[in-house]
Amino acid sequence: MVGENIRSAVRLFVLPPPSADDVEVRAAVEASDLRRVRVLAGFVALLMPVFVAFDAMVAGLPELQGATDVLPRMLVQRGLVFAIAVTLLVLSRGTPPPRRSRTLVLASSTTGVLAAAVFAVTVQRVRPDIAAFLLAAVAIAATVRLRGRVAFLVFLPGWAVLVAGLYLYQPDPVLRSLHVASGTVGALLSILVSRMLWAGAVREEGARIRLERRQQELMASNRELGRETEKLRRLTFLDATTGIPNRRYFDEAIEREASRAGRERQPVAVLMADIDHFKPYNDSLGHQAGDTCLSRVAAALAGAALRPGDLVARFGGEEFAVVLPDTTLTGARIVAERMRRAVEGLAIRHPGADRAVVTISLGVAAGVASGPDSGPALVSAADAALYRAKSAGRNRVESTA
Ligand code: GH3
Ligand code: MG
Ligand code: MG
Repeated sequence: MVGENIRSAVRLFVLPPPSADDVEVRAAVEASDLRRVRVLAGFVALLMPVFVAFDAMVAGLPELQGATDVLPRMLVQRGLVFAIAVTLLVLSRGTPPPRRSRTLVLASSTTGVLAAAVFAVTVQRVRPDIAAFLLAAVAIAATVRLRGRVAFLVFLPGWAVLVAGLYLYQPDPVLRSLHVASGTVGALLSILVSRMLWAGAVREEGARIRLERRQQELMASNRELGRETEKLRRLTFLDATTGIPNRRYFDEAIEREASRAGRERQPVAVLMADIDHFKPYNDSLGHQAGDTCLSRVAAALAGAALRPGDLVARFGGEEFAVVLPDTTLTGARIVAERMRRAVEGLAIRHPGADRAVVTISLGVAAGVASGPDSGPALVSAADAALYRAKSAGRNRVESTA
């Protein structure tokens, strides 16, 4: 288990960690890196004034006399680090675009390592140790997830400055070798940590984003399914020839309207319309012309029903049925007459008819519905009235009572 972990760590160190080809995954990791860098920068910015106060306090102590000559340089460097941290905080406000996030993260982490190296070799040479460099390197490695060669590039300038500085400023060869070795190991370990964290972050973000995408796809196909279902539902209720609601829809509608009218004690009216002498029309002009005529009549009837609740349906053959909610017999007769005139007004040439154009006859029934049979009863009454209109000579409206 331990052996396997070490092997995978070494593999990760030598080989490039998973490159997030997915732009979205990469952008997500980089954006979260910037947030982490901001926390670190805020912490560093707060720490600098505390360090300065501490420097000033210890500067007066006799046992640290040697430290006083580096105090001005130390203050300048602390000031610089503070300024860099604050600049980063200002530049990274809000949600910068991916490219800018990435540049800010890389620039600030490279600068951080570099500043720590400069600090370690110049300021700390009076008490030579490289703790500042190691601390900064580890803190940055734990904060910024770096991939591939980028990880080396971020730590390289700082490491080079550290090694060069040690050769310049550290006269003791043993101490120098020790510091170079620990600085190098520290830098390499930081690179390894940062690359391991990158691999983990890519896996996690990748899984999250894939899940999100899957959910969005599912939602989209659900919406599509809903639209298709609605289309199908409408198709099952539509008459293919005329495009208006069919008999099935009418049957449901009359039942619904009759029971609602019964509950609310409101009248409901039913109209039955039938094309006059349609058989000879069909026989002389053909079925195709008959269908076209049916469509035009249907459109004229639908156009003559003005209220949103009115329903015009094809009842079968060349018969149409109309439901008019909240409508009395008088009102329904007016609508029926309007429909009769609308069809007549179409002036569809009829070779065999008395008036030479296609006309319709209508039967009207209305009443306050009561009981479950009231719907079919209204339809029968309207049908009986239609029969009377036919007998009386066609192209007219007849009603119950
Ligand atoms: P009336 O004035 O008494 O209503 O006479 P009519 O000829 O219209 O009556 P009848 O019910 O005898 O004829 C109905 C004709 O309607 C029969 C058929 O030729 C025609 N028809 C019924 N359904 C369709 C259809 O879907 N398409 C076409 N083109 N014709 C149809
Ligand atoms: Mg007819
Ligand atoms: Mg008929």
